[in-house]
Amino acid sequence: MPVRHDEQLRISGTRVRLHPQPRFMPQYAQPETVWLSLAPGRIGPGPADGRMYTVDALDKKAYAPDAFPPWTGQWSPPVTPGPDGHFDHIDPASREFGVVHMYGTVRRVLDIWEGYLGYPVEWHFHDLQPRLELIPYIDWDNAQSGYGFMETGYGKPRGDGPREPFCLNFDVLAHETGHLLMFSLIGIPDNDTLTTEFRGFHEASSDLVALICALHFPSVVEHVLAGCRGNLYVENEIERIAELSPTEQIRSASNSHRMSEVPDVRTPWDKLTQPQLHQVGEPMTGAIFDILVEIYQQILVEEGVISRDLADLADRAADGSIDVHRVREPFDAAYTADPSGFHQALARARDIVGWRLAQVWQQTSPHNLNFAGVAARFLTIDRRRSGQRFQMIIRNSFRWRQIGPGFLPGAAR
Ligand SMILES: [Zn+2]
Repeated sequence: MPVRHDEQLRISGTRVRLHPQPRFMPQYAQPETVWLSLAPGRIGPGPADGRMYTVDALDKKAYAPDAFPPWTGQWSPPVTPGPDGHFDHIDPASREFGVVHMYGTVRRVLDIWEGYLGYPVEWHFHDLQPRLELIPYIDWDNAQSGYGFMETGYGKPRGDGPREPFCLNFDVLAHETGHLLMFSLIGIPDNDTLTTEFRGFHEASSDLVALICALHFPSVVEHVLAGCRGNLYVENEIERIAELSPTEQIRSASNSHRMSEVPDVRTPWDKLTQPQLHQVGEPMTGAIFDILVEIYQQILVEEGVISRDLADLADRAADGSIDVHRVREPFDAAYTADPSGFHQALARARDIVGWRLAQVWQQTSPHNLNFAGVAARFLTIDRRRSGQRFQMIIRNSFRWRQIGPGFLPGAAR
């Protein structure tokens, strides 16, 4: 969501509190206030609005593949807003908090992407029902989104503690919302036009939905940038961000896999496991993440936050031609002098990539989807928006990942 749009919501929106990352991580133990796009009073008990409603189902197992909402079993009373219409009064230790956390996260993710698209997304299941059903607590060790619903169970316990509900996990909820957005924006292929790349792209895109959304929390941006002193580029290249970043989505996005290192996309999708389909998407996720990081660095130079010389040094450190220690100190000095310059550059790079991704999804056909076509569309959309400014970055990032017309399926292996 564009920064100015987000600032406006702080005046007009409804407050909820969300954990930007799992609450067992000390820096995210306290939930943070987030403003949803609907005005106070427009989110009813549930919480519920015109696009989604929450049902605290009791004793529910996962929907069977042929089952559809609405849930008709037992459920707890809906959570009601405070007298001012906001939902930030709920005790974080209560069951109700998880109910509001699920609603607040899914609504926030939808707000962010509608902010880039500039119009409301119509759910792909709107013929069946206009609203998405959200079920925060089911007896299951997984989470899923399906035709008209999203439901979440529990992750593994940490040590001797209780199992951690997925309804409190921002990344899991955002990823599942990403799948729903992809079905709504890209659409649904036929049996004979469904490609392995479609499935891989779904996973990659859902991870990117979660990543871009996580970068809307000031605390996440602060934590990531302070951890690497603003030098995302080199840290990414040497894969240290995985250690620096607590964010699961950033970890998966900063992977270094190329197409020749993941399962062959010519393998029919139903011959691959779910983790393998995720791997197929990794070079695509990685390419978009690299584009984001390089645009961020270009903005740092354009805005004078770092010098061109330092950026060039960082490039050379990234390709291994000089030692990374040579850039660490100057980055540290630049970050200490102007942390907000780095924060603003990352927010702008996030919005540049977010806007382009939203356009790509909107313009991509679900039939016979392939990565080369997606890359070409990304380039075209960018060129129409920004001319040549980022074209080299984008072309090089896709090429490095072996995505593009020069890399026929499997040709690189
Ligand atoms: Zn998924």
